[in-house]
Amino acid sequence: MSTAQVLRLEAVRKVYPGEPPVEPVRGVDLVVERGEMVGVVGPSGSGKSTLLHLAAALERPTSGEVLVDGLAVSGLSDRQMSGLRAHRLGVVFQQFFLLDAMTALDNVATGLLYRGIGSTQRRRAAVRALERVGLAHRLYHRPGQLSGGERQRVAIARALVGEPAIVLADEPTGNLDQDSGHAIVELLRSLNEQGTTLVVVTHDPQVAAAMPRTVQVTDGLVLSDTPTHHGGGR
Ligand code: ADP
Ligand code: MG
Repeated sequence: MSTAQVLRLEAVRKVYPGEPPVEPVRGVDLVVERGEMVGVVGPSGSGKSTLLHLAAALERPTSGEVLVDGLAVSGLSDRQMSGLRAHRLGVVFQQFFLLDAMTALDNVATGLLYRGIGSTQRRRAAVRALERVGLAHRLYHRPGQLSGGERQRVAIARALVGEPAIVLADEPTGNLDQDSGHAIVELLRSLNEQGTTLVVVTHDPQVAAAMPRTVQVTDGLVLSDTPTHHGGGR
């Protein structure tokens, strides 16, 4: 199944029990259509990462509904949620989360592990994904032999390799210096121009300014949802 609404959040709340309980997401509605690039922007602690984990089907909402590519998460077993993540979602984190013992190629190929694809085909797709992020010359490097910006490109290739309905990135430039951060934003923009649907969570106003649409989150709520200019950036 495929739909124009690749991500839909309906009155999504997340409460972590405790004394007192924490409610980082307090009732969020959000629709992301195929082909969009959306910045989710807000100060530290405003609930952005929690929102991304909910959208990425890594966690379940306390109430409300999350639909990924038209599929409601609330009706899924844990196993089906893993399947949803493997088939329709790509996620990129600030910390890259690459496996140090593996080459860039094998790190990217792991993005297809739960897809029932043979290893030759996985590696072939991984090469193509690494070419797309400009790393054709780094296939056999290990993460320790790569710069921060290159590591994030490997992580982006791993998110893309399965051709997911949507790619979600949480502070993808957060561990990078300004120049490599800017290059990563440009890469994400070019991937979007080639058709990839993207949500980019950031507290960095410069990254936010490069987004065609900006959703401002404060204290677990959407404050504003603004289409910004196209061809932005600095
Ligand atoms: P942001 O990404 O915008 O900085 P987060 O979503 O990481 O915000 O966190 C929002 C709030 O929720 C913070 O106060 C954080 O401490 C709290 N929080 C996040 N995850 C958990 C958790 N698993 N258990 C309890 N509180 C949490
Ligand atoms: Mg965060």
